[in-house]
This record gives sequence, C-alpha cells and structure tokens, in this order.
Amino acid sequence: MPPTHHEVVIIGSGPAGLTAAIYTARADLAPLVLEGEPSSDSDQPGGQLMLTTDVENFPGFPEGVMGPTLMTDMRAQAVRFGAKVETVKASRVDLASTPIGIWIGDPDAAEATHTADAVIISTGARSVMLGLEAEERLIGHGLSTCATCDGFFFRDQEIAVVGGGDSSLEEATFLTKFASKVTIVHRRDELRASKIMQNRAFENPKIEFAWNSVVDDVLGEEAVTGVRLRDTVTGDLRDLPVTGLFIAIGHRPNTDLFTGQLAMDDNGYLLTHPDRSTTDIPGVFACGDVQDHTYRQAITAAASGCMAAIDAERWLQSRHD
Ligand code: NAP
Repeated sequence: MPPTHHEVVIIGSGPAGLTAAIYTARADLAPLVLEGEPSSDSDQPGGQLMLTTDVENFPGFPEGVMGPTLMTDMRAQAVRFGAKVETVKASRVDLASTPIGIWIGDPDAAEATHTADAVIISTGARSVMLGLEAEERLIGHGLSTCATCDGFFFRDQEIAVVGGGDSSLEEATFLTKFASKVTIVHRRDELRASKIMQNRAFENPKIEFAWNSVVDDVLGEEAVTGVRLRDTVTGDLRDLPVTGLFIAIGHRPNTDLFTGQLAMDDNGYLLTHPDRSTTDIPGVFACGDVQDHTYRQAITAAASGCMAAIDAERWLQSRHD
C-alpha cells in the first residue's frame, strides 16, 4: 500500500497533542493524530491525565474535572473540527526525508504508512514507577506522581514520598503545606538531592525520613491506607499508615523513536529552540512534556501544543509564499 499523505501528523494524544490537533484542524490542515494504543493500564492514549482522577487546576472547571473526561472531551473537540485519530503507535519515523515518513507496525517495511509535510511530536513523558502491582490499582486513588496536581487532596493527612533526589525533596516540602506529616522513603542513608534542598527538608518539622527503606507494597484495595516498608539493611518489614503515596523517583521522556534524529538533552528530552516549538529539522515541532522537564502541567502542555500548531501552520504557509 502506498503511504497516505497528510499536511500534519501529530504523534501523541495528551493535552499537548490534542490541543495541537484542535488548532491545526481549525486551520483546515486536517491533522492525523496517532494517539497511541493501550499496552497496560498505565499506558493509555490520552497521556498521563488518563491516570488521574480529579483535576482541579485546569482553568475553566470550577468544580474540577476527571482527568479521563478532560482528555475525552479534548479528543472530541479535535474530531469535531476534522482531526482524524488513529489508535496506533508509530513504530519508526524518518524525519530527514521529504515528505517525512511515519511507519505503523513493521518498522522494517520498505514503505512508510503515512507521509507528512509537518510532524508535531507530543509523545510526553512518564514517571518512573516502582513496578508494584498495587501501583496500577491505586494510581489516582491516593497514589500520585504529581504533588502540584494532587497535594491539595491530602490536607491534614499523613503521607509518604519515595525517592532521595531533588524531585522527591521538592515534592515533600511542597506537600507539607497540606499534609500533617510527610515521610520521605529513601533506599539509602544518604540523599542524592542538592544540599540546599536537603537542608530545607531537614529543617522542616513536618518531614521525617525512613532511611534504608524501600516500598515493598502499597496497602489498600480501593484507596491507599499505608505502605509496607522493607529495611534494605536488615530485611525487616514494617507498615507505615499513610493515606497518600507520592512516587518521585524520576521521569523518562518518550523519545526512543527519535534517537539519532533529533537533538536531546542528557536525560533524553527533545530540544526545541528558545520560546518556540521548532526543532533543528524544518517541519518537525515538539510540544508538551516530551520537551519540558520543568513545568509538566496539563495547562502548560496544552499551551505548548497551541504554539506547535501555530508554528507548524506558519511554516506550512511560508512554503507557499
Ligand atoms: P534523580 O535525581 O534521578 O533521583 C531519583 C531518586 O529516586 C534517587 O534518590 C534514587 O535513589 C531514587 N530511586 C530511583 N529508582 C528507585 C527505585 N526503583 N526505588 C526507590 N528509589 C529509587 O531524579 P529527580 O529527583 O526526578 O531529578 C531529576 C533531575 O532534575 C535531577 O538532575 C535534579 O537535580 C533535577 N531537579 C531539580 C530540581 C530543582 O533544582 N528545583 C527539582 C527537581 C528535579 P538513589 O539516590 O539511591 O539512586
């Protein structure tokens, strides 16, 4: 089958990709969105908001909105204006060719499945998880990967944060605004975080440390009721009663598909030009968490999706001028 050609293909369907789809669809560019396909409960089209429950900080929803509802509505809004959405994952891209080639399925197939004049990359990032079965069950039900998003729900409660890096300490410190006690669970007896963050945490009366400890299990069927900690030195198990558990052991951008084709930072995040969504390859744009390790919010991802759509539209227009 010869490739199907599109003016714009958007890879990824979180807030960045779907906002780019709404804008490019309304600009009459008939974008194709490759939304991904579910490979597990924690890997769903729609991105990280599919793993959350209440979202209370997305403007326009005074009563809050469920993460999956917000994503389903953004998708419907894009489709309403003519975006096509395919529930598939890209298996290979050739960003250097003109038009750009995108493969679905067999990456060794001679011909691409789709070709595009412009590609908007919005494949997002994922939080590194502990790999426990309970995580899939309890994420959004007391287990969270984002203190900014969910801290508010833990007012006057005792919670735990896993990790010994800057993220963990930053999240723990932020969470003390709400929680009555925050226990930082770290697998060693020394933190990886910067000294300033360490000092801030040590001085905070609401923060305690569970040193040399790993989370062996998260307790609770419908919601988190505690964590079972294993001492890495003695092997002893103990239960810590908490109603919230924040996992802060790092993030990984979903950029394997672009290795060797696009510039990335040391952690694999795509590099875009300052204040733009443009990359070093003309016609290739990136938005959302795949290029943002600082803000990582639905609203900032959506905003950068809008930027990518406008940048793509102007770039396509400039080729006809
Ligand atoms: P990180 O620095 O890689 O720290 C990850 C932490 O999680 C480490 O303490 C690590 O333990 C622990 N960990 C990893 N896998 C684990 C597992 N399976 N079980 C238990 N613990 C595990 O990641 P990060 O804190 O997200 O920071 C990423 C980058 O962003 C860093 O360069 C950081 O400095 C930067 N950052 C900066 C700021 C700021 O300046 N305000 C804020 C956030 C992040 P070990 O220490 O034993 O390896």
